[in-house]
Amino acid sequence: MDLMKHLRDVPDFPKPGILFKDITPLLAHPEALAEAIRMLNEAASKFEFDAILAAESRGFLFAAPMALALGKPLIPLRKPGKLPWKVVSQKYDLEYGSAELQMHEDALQPGQRALLIDDVLATGGTIKAAAEIVRKVGAIPVAALFILELSFLEGKKLVDPLPTHSLLTI
Ligand code: AMP
Repeated sequence: MDLMKHLRDVPDFPKPGILFKDITPLLAHPEALAEAIRMLNEAASKFEFDAILAAESRGFLFAAPMALALGKPLIPLRKPGKLPWKVVSQKYDLEYGSAELQMHEDALQPGQRALLIDDVLATGGTIKAAAEIVRKVGAIPVAALFILELSFLEGKKLVDPLPTHSLLTI
């Protein structure tokens, strides 16, 4: 199945010059969504990890079914002001602006291994921040998985040495 057919290009969103890759057609197609989750689970099976970390917000959509299928804890990384307990934070730059991610400080124990999930690897800023948060609590980011990599933005370089795998690459 060609998952790329289930992504929609939206020019100039959310800012002029950005070609936004819209995953909502993929979400709306049960067979395509099932195939995406199956492929992500297969990629995940190549790594040893204790928990799945998902970047707000589209990462949640893929990480939750993965966590259920793989029998792993699911940890949300959220924007500031959303998590109710004590948090660790990391600021980062986006392809379009800057942002901050937070995780509950007790979500991972020192030495635990975390697999990171998001929909798109663009500049890599988001997933680099996620990996930094994991390291801040003494845990280990093992890899990051994505539906799509925008390779011309060289996100892989930014997150190096963290291994990344994407189902699709542009
Ligand atoms: P980055 O931190 O630059 O790797 O950006 C990754 C995050 O921003 C992901 O959570 C994506 O959902 C979102 N994102 C960045 N650029 C795009 C794009 N061109 N199309 C869709 N989502 C994007």
